[in-house]
Amino acid sequence: MWRYRAVLPLAAGERPVTLGEGATPLLDAPRLAEDIGVRRLLIKDEALNPTASFKARGMSAAVTRALAHRVPGLVVPTAGNAGAAMAAYAAAAGLPARVFAPETTPANILATIRALGATLVTVPGHIGDAGRAARAFAAESGYFDVSTLREPYRIEGKKTMGLELAEQLGWRYPDAIVYPTGGGTGLIGMWKVFAEMAEWGWIGADARRPRMIVAQAEGCAPIVRAFAAHAERAQPWESPSTHASGLRVPGPLGDRLILRALYESGGDAGAVSEDAIRRDTATLARTTGVDAAPEGGCALAVARMLVAAGRIDRDSEVLVFNTGSGASYRT
Ligand SMILES: *Cc1c(COP(=O)(O)O)cnc(C)c1O
Repeated sequence: MWRYRAVLPLAAGERPVTLGEGATPLLDAPRLAEDIGVRRLLIKDEALNPTASFKARGMSAAVTRALAHRVPGLVVPTAGNAGAAMAAYAAAAGLPARVFAPETTPANILATIRALGATLVTVPGHIGDAGRAARAFAAESGYFDVSTLREPYRIEGKKTMGLELAEQLGWRYPDAIVYPTGGGTGLIGMWKVFAEMAEWGWIGADARRPRMIVAQAEGCAPIVRAFAAHAERAQPWESPSTHASGLRVPGPLGDRLILRALYESGGDAGAVSEDAIRRDTATLARTTGVDAAPEGGCALAVARMLVAAGRIDRDSEVLVFNTGSGASYRT
């Protein structure tokens, strides 16, 4: 990831806190394309990151800056993968770490957080409840809070997904990007870097930017509901529930930025059932060999639904994000 250091928050001569994140494969999935009925389907497999999710990118950037600011420790609320990534980068930086996670977080991910030396606190409820506990702890301890969008650097790390996919396609964009959305860090980061790339002349200023498409679960779909209502902000989702734990974010702080990217890109947003998520997680794995996380399965299921509904053109090249590893969710 840090070979893009010229456009990342890193001072001259400074060394990043890195574990080899980024440079993940962009895979052509012709049988899956045929299955859902589009011209070309690409899978960006973010499971091939340290701690097996794309959270590594954001945490590498955030922990690099936090270390430079000499923070005494790091704290984060998480639906799972952000905590594992934070624990890993804190260990790499030599900083103490504390992670607040819902009790319902997949057991494998909780075990990874502990194995990497972070202090783990499980809380009843969802990530919003974990966030309140994390902020209270930060206030009393002086630990720095690396929550989604409460510091500016996680989106800088995650924007490298946009740089990579354009580079992997020979400096052009796919027609649509389907992104399983919780807090929206990656979607916001990519939309930001697409504008920056035009500014820097890395891609033609007239290059048509991709339609940004949000995928969520029917049990927690605040962005899908707000998009359908043409709203600027999303109302918090009551009683959020989905086994795709990374998507169980009832009140994303970046709602306005996510929705703006959807409107500006002529994008879309869709939600699917738990059964559809399970089905397409299995289909993704068995058709491509990518051990998909449920969040990746959700993105595929939403792509399938939007193609069937005529909301994604059959002649399109569609890029679906697999954001984590199926292995993390297995018991
Ligand atoms: C965190 C997470 C998401 C949601 O990512 P955001 O950028 O916060 O929307 C999706 N999938 C997985 C596996 C995650 O860990």
